Amino acid sequence: MNYQLLGHDLRHAAEEILLQLLPAAALRDAPDDGADDFCLSALTERDGEAAVRTTTRLSGTTRESVRTGKVEGMNEMARKRVLSELVKLGVYDTVAPALDTPPVWGALTGVRPAKLVRSMTARGLSRGETAARFRERYFVSPTRTALAVRCAAYAGQAIDSLNERDVSLYVGIPFCPSRCAYCSFVSSSIERSAALIPPYVDALCAEVRDTGALLAEQGRRVTSIYIGGGTPTTLSAEQLARLMGEIARSMDLSALREYTVEAGRPDTITPEKLAAIRAGGADRVSINPQTMNDEVLARIGRRHSAEDVVRAYHEARAAGFSVINMDTIAGLDGDTPASFAETLCRLTALDPENITVHTLAIKRGADLSDKAGNAARHDAVAQMLDFAHDHLSRAGYGPYYLYRQKFSAGGFENVGWCKPGTESFYNIAMMEEIQTILSCGAGGVSKRVDRATGRIDRYTAPKYPREYLSAGARIAAGKRKLLSEGEA
Ligand code: SF4
Repeated sequence: MNYQLLGHDLRHAAEEILLQLLPAAALRDAPDDGADDFCLSALTERDGEAAVRTTTRLSGTTRESVRTGKVEGMNEMARKRVLSELVKLGVYDTVAPALDTPPVWGALTGVRPAKLVRSMTARGLSRGETAARFRERYFVSPTRTALAVRCAAYAGQAIDSLNERDVSLYVGIPFCPSRCAYCSFVSSSIERSAALIPPYVDALCAEVRDTGALLAEQGRRVTSIYIGGGTPTTLSAEQLARLMGEIARSMDLSALREYTVEAGRPDTITPEKLAAIRAGGADRVSINPQTMNDEVLARIGRRHSAEDVVRAYHEARAAGFSVINMDTIAGLDGDTPASFAETLCRLTALDPENITVHTLAIKRGADLSDKAGNAARHDAVAQMLDFAHDHLSRAGYGPYYLYRQKFSAGGFENVGWCKPGTESFYNIAMMEEIQTILSCGAGGVSKRVDRATGRIDRYTAPKYPREYLSAGARIAAGKRKLLSEGEA
């Protein structure tokens, strides 16, 4: 599908909403070539008022919309925000009537809908007014509106309980036993990188010590810890014990309220490693089946069975973790709504405290030769998410954090579900950007959050483990600069 912009260059806004509404479209910024589908977005401004006229032809039917908004006296950032919204709403007006089912997030494309709820309530809107705006201005479905409002409430409670100077800590282990077919992270399979693990653990322990010294200097405590990956349980029990011992010695954990280790792949989990993780202080562990369908597991390159998941779950229970999370993915290759439902039923029968339902991103432009297949997959994912919502609600879980996939077809969401009182503070803090998070490890993104202004600054460590090994001094300086800039 060709699209053209006149009087503005808000390509990102136009593409984001087009792709969300038309996941099978192959977008090209090019003039009308006479094909069945085309979209024109034209901006004019007069007397401080902007008007975006959108003309869209879909399957030979043409629709038009004019959206207007005041931009007088606005700074560049605010003006761009208003114009982007007009562009998206114009596309929505002209595309949505052609769709079989209305998109659940309507014209909303942001990654953090609950954060948008909070910014609206901070501007003085009541919860009811915010929900009404979600539904009436952005055409968000009642279910997704309720989801965003509920997750915003959890974030609000988390903020109220926070000491502004305290931070959370992320520690990354970028190794996995093998690579999953859908993986988009920088993670090395141990078959190829086993020799890198010992020096990586050495470098990581050194970074943990440096970070602890920096935090001690600034009088900052650690509120929550998340050791993620990759697959942290690729490390041996001894390596895990060493790393967690280093964390315990280096940081002020007097305010620690949650400590998670992502055990991830069941094929890496042993009772010895779980015991080491418990002894190291973690109380929450994540065991991630993704699916309980063995055929799908084989297809996506996971070298474990559904039974391995069940075994790992019972071992984690026996080890005494107070919260177990289990991750699933809707939309895996070869999965169907029926087998996804079976996965969720088997997981809720195990009764973990947390279940996270991710959506596989159907990447922009992926599989363009099979548009019908892409659209069918999109419909199947929609069914899976509907089932997850109903089933998990009935099983006593509620949604507590949420984020959406950026620039992916369909623009669905990932949702963390929890039994009452078992929500993960770290997940809320990270997704809602309510607290400074320091990262250790290759590719770690440290984010300093200024709650008063909403400003967020980042420092990213070198991405690849090999590069990371020799970057200790550079990383320490980068994190020091990041934290110190926030000091008066
Ligand atoms: S376990 Fe996760 S990080 Fe590792 S290869 Fe699979 S998807 Fe990627």
